[in-house]
Amino acid sequence: MQYRTLGKTGLEISTLGYGASPLGGVFRDVDASIGIRTVHTALDAGINLIDCSPYYGLTRAETVLGKALKGIERERYFISTKAGRYGAQPSDFDMSAKRIRQSLDESLVRLGVDEVDIFLLHDIEFVDLDIVLHEALPCLERLKAEGRIRAFGVTGYPLRSFAQVIEGFDIDCILTYCRYALHDRSLERLMPQLEARNIGIINGSPTCMGLLTERGAPDWHPADAALRECARRATELCRERGVDITRIALQFAVQHPLIASTLVGTANPDNLLKNLQWIDEPLDQALATELSALFAAQPGAVWPSGLPQNSDEVAA
Ligand code: NAD
Repeated sequence: MQYRTLGKTGLEISTLGYGASPLGGVFRDVDASIGIRTVHTALDAGINLIDCSPYYGLTRAETVLGKALKGIERERYFISTKAGRYGAQPSDFDMSAKRIRQSLDESLVRLGVDEVDIFLLHDIEFVDLDIVLHEALPCLERLKAEGRIRAFGVTGYPLRSFAQVIEGFDIDCILTYCRYALHDRSLERLMPQLEARNIGIINGSPTCMGLLTERGAPDWHPADAALRECARRATELCRERGVDITRIALQFAVQHPLIASTLVGTANPDNLLKNLQWIDEPLDQALATELSALFAAQPGAVWPSGLPQNSDEVAA
């Protein structure tokens, strides 16, 4: 396993991180004992970054993760978890300082740890960014000064809301998703700004939440019919070349030097072992270029997310 430093935090995190959302049954029902075995497989392979949230499975993922981490030496992993999002509806967001503190206390109990390494505001584009900049981030800064968290930042989908937050507050890192993958590499537009401020990048969803897998995207996935069709053709092209599309999707994301860690979600130990093997193998650059070109010819790789003023412009 290789490790990269997360921005200015000094945290040396594994280039492949474990995304714990499937432990909450986000993609399908998951047997907790198999989920726990997957976490142990990850740790044994040298993965030291585990990302979770109270939102995943409405606290279930954190609870299962806490069981998995019981008895494991604390120095073997960094935990990233989140606050501010507790459901799918607009009314399920609360980024007030009071709720963030309470949320941290609750997460620590579920996870069975005394401190969170990386604490993130979950999906900032769904709330007024004034609250993020003037209440939520100052709260995270205080929690860091109090020694309750080691680093903080924000997560979300639109690049626009990241850009505004980065301009307005000195954060340690961002967690982005689906913006640096085979189907869309628009995160590259934000990278100069992030690099100039030494803000660490964690990149989630290298398979674009299942779109770039043999099974394909789940029903709730935001991709429109055209993007799904393009992904189906890409999957077929890979199959013809004897390559699993997930393999190339993963290799493509992990190789970027500015991305400290790429988070893949799975509650299946066999898939995790495959992912571990794949990141050690070389990327077929010609095929990756061909796949990127296939998606580039297809408008609509980006979808709207959050409040209109925070969302990226989306091609018609
Ligand atoms: P992902 O791209 O990691 O895809 C997960 C899907 O890919 C699952 O269906 C899984 O079964 C499948 N998969 C994984 N390995 C496979 C393999 N070898 N073969 C076939 N299928 C395989 O997307 P994700 O889970 O959404 O993202 C990863 C993590 O990133 C999340 O768990 C979460 O921690 C983080 N994330 C955070 C945010 C946020 O903060 N807003 C958003 C998205 C993701």
